[in-house]
Amino acid sequence: MQYELVVGLEVHCQLNTNSKAFCGCSTEFGKPANTNICPVCLALPGALPVLNRRVIDDAVKLGLATGCTIARQSILARKNYFYPDLPKGYQISQYEEPVCTEGVVHVDTDEGQRDVRLVRIHVEEDAGKSIHDIGDDTFIDVNRCGVPLLEIVSYPDIRSAKEASAYLQKLRQIVKYLGISDGNMEEGSLRCDANVSVRLKGAEEYGTRTEIKNMNSFKSVEKAIEYEAQRHIDVLESGGKIVQETRLWDADKQETRSMRGKEFAHDYRYFPDPDLVPVRIDDEMLERLKQNLPEFPEARSERFVREFGIPGYDAGVLTAERDVADYFEEVVRSCGDAKAASNWVMGEVLRTLKEKNIPVASFSVSPERLGGLIGLIAGGTISNTIAKQVFERMLETGDNAEAIVEKEGLAQVSDTAEIERVVQEIIDANPGQVNQYRSGKTRIFGFFVGQCMKAMKGKANPVVVNEILKRKLDG
Ligand code: ZN
Ligand code: MN
Repeated sequence: MQYELVVGLEVHCQLNTNSKAFCGCSTEFGKPANTNICPVCLALPGALPVLNRRVIDDAVKLGLATGCTIARQSILARKNYFYPDLPKGYQISQYEEPVCTEGVVHVDTDEGQRDVRLVRIHVEEDAGKSIHDIGDDTFIDVNRCGVPLLEIVSYPDIRSAKEASAYLQKLRQIVKYLGISDGNMEEGSLRCDANVSVRLKGAEEYGTRTEIKNMNSFKSVEKAIEYEAQRHIDVLESGGKIVQETRLWDADKQETRSMRGKEFAHDYRYFPDPDLVPVRIDDEMLERLKQNLPEFPEARSERFVREFGIPGYDAGVLTAERDVADYFEEVVRSCGDAKAASNWVMGEVLRTLKEKNIPVASFSVSPERLGGLIGLIAGGTISNTIAKQVFERMLETGDNAEAIVEKEGLAQVSDTAEIERVVQEIIDANPGQVNQYRSGKTRIFGFFVGQCMKAMKGKANPVVVNEILKRKLDG
């Protein structure tokens, strides 16, 4: 029988504000346990929360970027539950009136663009952390209490594990373009829960769903959904029933397993937080946020094709990350050659970033310096081959291209007399090959070019080498 997979995702995105959502505490990661805290995030009696303005700005930005309806008034609510890492006994979240509703994310898949609709985007605070892996005790670190999150809830519009991962990557791209989150999944800035069910192809009704938690990479999202869907199919095929429950993804065993279902079947007793006034968004605020939206990848990619005449594929690669696109544009500005800039950024620069596993912001060669290197090639001072060596030296030394070429004597030799001398040496040393060439095996010409370049350590101007070789061999 043919089953169809049905997936909806709930994504928690940590905002990159300097201070927490309802107090002035720092959000800095990696501080000693329980040092980024105050009476508000500890929920001491009498402490009152004040909403961080940027949290709403960021929620509205993401809402605008995903075509949501922005609520002119929204409510912060208490979601009540007991857990050791939640000193307040409730989480400030949104329930009945979230900031954003009814949006859409355009997801690129191998089968073309798919639209995943959003139910809502709301703001909430993070909880603390229980640490179980030190001795026999459990420790609580509440540094993370009150760190602002956006919760992004999709409709069950996703139909494959790959699509789920593509949707997440698209969300990450959007929040990074907006500059509201670092979108780092491994460090928990993006956390994803998946609601998974299967149904017979063509069926109208949804099957019983399970929720999977604890997936901390794009790969694990894909693997966990694939695993869970197959588990559903196996249960149904053997005549069983799916139990609605929450399951954990175990990356070591590559399987999902049941978390105790009842413990998480909560009645959260939501109600409006009496300590926080309703959030109002006026025309002026909305207009300001709209005006300051960045140019998004699709638009930017189209502009790159139009303005720089580079292929669509290249434009797509260059705009995948905002910082890379910015870097590329700076290189073009400084050398004036978009095609060469594109080749260098897509080739050497992206390769180096990947090898070193660093973002472009920490890349040691500035766009101006890369532009300088490209300028030296265009001006005939160095060949492309030598340029790659110079680039490596730029990475090692931090010097600019011109200084390296000068110091290491890498400038291209166009001096006819010197090239002529080397060519003659090569010809004299290889009489056999010369005979072959002269008896019509002209394809051996490349051998002579190679020998000359080798003798001159790649620095000979290839045009001049070709000219002189041809003259001497043919003459
Ligand atoms: Zn605090
Ligand atoms: Mn949540």
